[in-house]
Amino acid sequence: MESPGDKAVIAVRSRPLFAQEIARNCASVLNFPDEDKNIVILGKHGFEFDKIFCGSAQEEVFEIVRPILKQVWAGYSATVMAYGQTGAGKTYTMGTGRGKFSLDGEGVVPRTVRELFMLNAEQSAEIFVSFMEVYNEGVYDLLSAFPTRKIQARAFRDLGLQEIHVVSVEDALKRLEEGIEARRVSETQGNEKSSRSHAIFSIHIHKFSKEDETETRSLVHLVDLAGSEAVGKAGNQGSLKLEGISINQGLLALSNCIRAVIQKSQHIPVRNTALTNVLQDALKGKCMLALIACVSPSSKDETETIQTLRFAQAFH
Ligand code: ADP
Ligand code: MG
Repeated sequence: MESPGDKAVIAVRSRPLFAQEIARNCASVLNFPDEDKNIVILGKHGFEFDKIFCGSAQEEVFEIVRPILKQVWAGYSATVMAYGQTGAGKTYTMGTGRGKFSLDGEGVVPRTVRELFMLNAEQSAEIFVSFMEVYNEGVYDLLSAFPTRKIQARAFRDLGLQEIHVVSVEDALKRLEEGIEARRVSETQGNEKSSRSHAIFSIHIHKFSKEDETETRSLVHLVDLAGSEAVGKAGNQGSLKLEGISINQGLLALSNCIRAVIQKSQHIPVRNTALTNVLQDALKGKCMLALIACVSPSSKDETETIQTLRFAQAFH
């Protein structure tokens, strides 16, 4: 992404096949003819993307985010999202799991924090972070004293989330860890729901220009999306069914917004769901997007993998 005229980058990342999968006779159904832009599933369905990552280090994946952060520093808003079925590597890629802060394994969120503090070496900006979870059309402020209190979904700036001033990388990563922990605690009160909610870590930059005494504000949302396997599955009962509908509608509305952003449409259809509602500020005007579609190479996951590739292909 050389110029901000290119509004979006669509990438696919395949996780490795696990030893247990090999032990259970699952084979890889993916091929990478050029190891860069093309991916083939089951030897017959080919897809092309801006970038394919297979066997790539976290550092390489971050290279698609870095140019976006340059633009964020220059005043753009941005959204970086990991999409895909549960177990495909979204949380690993974003770095929003527990205890994933070792340098080599660090995902997109900690690397983004480091990059933005590096860009702020001259301390020309103040940096704030917030962290929310979107679940069943409600929003939860993971950095507040009440992370289980449901907030009505609305535009991000009207949510009233805690925006915490951070003065160092360590400071910001501590908040990230706190939010991850709050998410985990709320989960044990009910059931395992992290794969069925969206986690959004946001970094706000208030930048001051000494020359003309103006302040520029920009924002980057880093999104670990809910598992996409709910899409198209209507068979669930009760609360699971509601969740499925919410995830379906959120991801569908998100895809419509991404398409509108890429087509530079005047109208971005953001209002239908909690997910697009809270992201709307960063989907309008001077904005950029990165979608990392995470896939499993395993034969047991081929249906979901095709679904994910099709979802991402719709933007390319
Ligand atoms: P998701 O968040 O999509 O449900 P996870 O990020 O939790 O999936 O990944 C599932 C498992 O696979 C985790 O144990 C994770 O550490 C591992 N994993 C995912 N992606 C990779 C990768 N690129 N390299 C190595 N291990 C990975
Ligand atoms: Mg996850």
